[in-house]
Amino acid sequence: MEHYLDNAATTKPCAEATEAVMRCLSEAYGNPSSLHTKGLQAQHEMDKAREQLAYALGCKPQEIIFTSGATESNNLALRGAAAAYGRRRKKIVVSAVEHASVRQTMAALAEQGFVIETILPGQDGLYHASDFLRAVDDDTCLISMMLVNNENGCRMPVEETFRVVKRQDPAVITHCDAVQGFLKIPFRTRTLGADLISLSGHKVHGVKGAGALYIKQGVRVKPVLFGGHQEKGLRPGTESVPLIAAFGAAVGALFPTLETRGQKVQALRTRLIEQLRTMEGVFIRDLPDGSPYVLNISLLGYRSEIVLHFLEKRDIYLSSGSACSKGASSGVLETFGAKRKEVDSALRISLSAENTVADIDALVQGLRAAQQTLLRSHT
Ligand code: PLP
Repeated sequence: MEHYLDNAATTKPCAEATEAVMRCLSEAYGNPSSLHTKGLQAQHEMDKAREQLAYALGCKPQEIIFTSGATESNNLALRGAAAAYGRRRKKIVVSAVEHASVRQTMAALAEQGFVIETILPGQDGLYHASDFLRAVDDDTCLISMMLVNNENGCRMPVEETFRVVKRQDPAVITHCDAVQGFLKIPFRTRTLGADLISLSGHKVHGVKGAGALYIKQGVRVKPVLFGGHQEKGLRPGTESVPLIAAFGAAVGALFPTLETRGQKVQALRTRLIEQLRTMEGVFIRDLPDGSPYVLNISLLGYRSEIVLHFLEKRDIYLSSGSACSKGASSGVLETFGAKRKEVDSALRISLSAENTVADIDALVQGLRAAQQTLLRSHT
């Protein structure tokens, strides 16, 4: 029996998503830009997906731009807004624990002459709106903060920060990478206070290769790719209708169950933490107000990659950190205050409502077996 506990890296596509892909491959295979029936059929699939996302976000369908994933959404949001609003204002404020697709985009914007002010967590290891507000000044065009950190589940103070920043200066554009919070943490575009929101299909039981960017009506974003008129010219190129339809179908299926899924995942997490607390040598990063879907722990004295391979032989799948860093530390846990030996032995357990008590129990047994079988490292 497989125990998949790496849902922050990607999720298994749900039945509705798989069905949508099959339908678009076998029937609605036209190009949405074609004027004949086949084109209209594909356009209908796109419209439906857009409506499904808009309903879940509480926005207008016209405010959704489909992309190839959240990496592209983050690039389009940040580079596009910097190009539109950064002629006179040159400062961008961002948290230090963003996903690589935000951090690397910031590095590219710094090369273009933007001044990037990176905000560290406070003494208590958590983020506070006041630290962001202090950094925002007359020269700031953009602020970017993720909703939930992908490595430790930290819930960032997006709503409060964006509210106080907008109150101080409504001209500052607010961007939120909501990939790890969408359909897990309840939010609406209005409550989040973001002008731009990045989303990814494959993190919510859709299929890899489709994402979205919410752009609040009236907010300007310049394109970063050039070509046809698709997605209002902001994402030119023939749309991947099967993957977009799968994204919409997954959102349509998951949105009504947000609360019940959350309760189930919370119960699994509680069981996991209770069991881990009975073990020696386990450091548990159980953050106050963190997302129930991600738990980062350290099996002290055992290197992450060795434990991961040990667990894999028992059909238990998890990660050491961000999927994008391929096992190497992204630096995020260190930024949150983790010591070297904790980072070297970090394990990220990321849940979905598909998980069961059997997955949790198998993991705990696997970790106990690792402690009994593997040689301790000296790091
Ligand atoms: N942002 C966050 C917080 C993520 O966790 C990820 C994926 O790991 C991304 C962005 C990138 O998403 P995608 O794989 O759709 O490009």
